[in-house]
Amino acid sequence: GCPGRLLELKGNIRVLCRLRPGTPSSLVSLEPGPGGTVTTCYRGHQRRFRLDWVFPPHASQEEVFRELESAVLSCLGGYSVCIFTYGQTGTGKTYSMEGPPEDPGIAPRALQSLFREMGTGGQHRVTLSMVEIYNEAVRDLLAPGPPQRLAVRQGPAGQGGIQVAGLTHWDVPNLESLHQMLSLGRSNRATAATAMNQRSSRSHALVTLTLRTASPSRGPGTAGTLHLVDLAGSERAWKAGAAGSSQEDREGAQRLREARTINRSLLALGGVMAALRARRPHVPFRDSQLTRLLQPALGPGATAVLLLQISTRPEDLGETVCSLKFAERVG
Ligand code: ADP
Ligand code: MG
Repeated sequence: GCPGRLLELKGNIRVLCRLRPGTPSSLVSLEPGPGGTVTTCYRGHQRRFRLDWVFPPHASQEEVFRELESAVLSCLGGYSVCIFTYGQTGTGKTYSMEGPPEDPGIAPRALQSLFREMGTGGQHRVTLSMVEIYNEAVRDLLAPGPPQRLAVRQGPAGQGGIQVAGLTHWDVPNLESLHQMLSLGRSNRATAATAMNQRSSRSHALVTLTLRTASPSRGPGTAGTLHLVDLAGSERAWKAGAAGSSQEDREGAQRLREARTINRSLLALGGVMAALRARRPHVPFRDSQLTRLLQPALGPGATAVLLLQISTRPEDLGETVCSLKFAERVG
């Protein structure tokens, strides 16, 4: 990687933007590159948004990862790194984060890059955990047995942070076992998705990799963490008129409830990132399970990267503008 860029990234929030491939639209235009812009024309009103990086249309998975690799590798130096994919359902969040097996996304590339960098010296101990947050309930995607809701509590005094009671942390001896665990977690999420009607687009999925060095020179217990977060769809489904009152409308009521909790947790994430960026003394971590879980990871010195996924379709324009406004608030 490039050390200059790594330094820039430390202690920062960076916002990158990727288009979902499709027919380009005169309503959404780009100036790609570092400090690039996205210009929207919505209801006759033109707006230009500046981001840290705008990928050109049809950017490859490799191109996307290249911009993230130095941040990913910084967790080997004990840093905390969070990478989020944000956007409306269908804009490519999961594609960017996971990717199809023949064209892997950020998560598999990040893990491969980390393991390559660590080599076989055995200086690091790697552990993995994987959770889903659905309707503010936290569920372990790697626990044996039936899935159970886990309680999130404040950690012991002095140690800071939070604890997820009963969450399993798995030792990862090598890249192969890591991939096996990831696909187990993914299939647990997918099973729930079919049972609960596309629940996966209404839940946040968090993969957490913790790296502890066994090297005496860095001191025992020095831990870097990498959080890879595939966020729930940001669309404001509640605006689509889900009334949800009558018996027949139970499904609608459920959708409405989901949409509200998602909306609240994404707002909380935006609030936390905006507070961190402005170095405000109070950071509202407690406003959602997502931000509570990420509190230890989003402290001072942490790097957060938001990969904003947007659509160019005219019918999605309202959501595209909302996503860009979110990015503007945090970036
Ligand atoms: P989300 O997770 O945001 O709901 P998905 O990642 O599931 O969206 O993407 C929606 C569809 O678009 C999937 O079929 C996915 O394979 C496809 N897709 C998204 N981004 C790309 C891309 N960059 N290249 C090719 N196909 C993509
Ligand atoms: Mg998805």
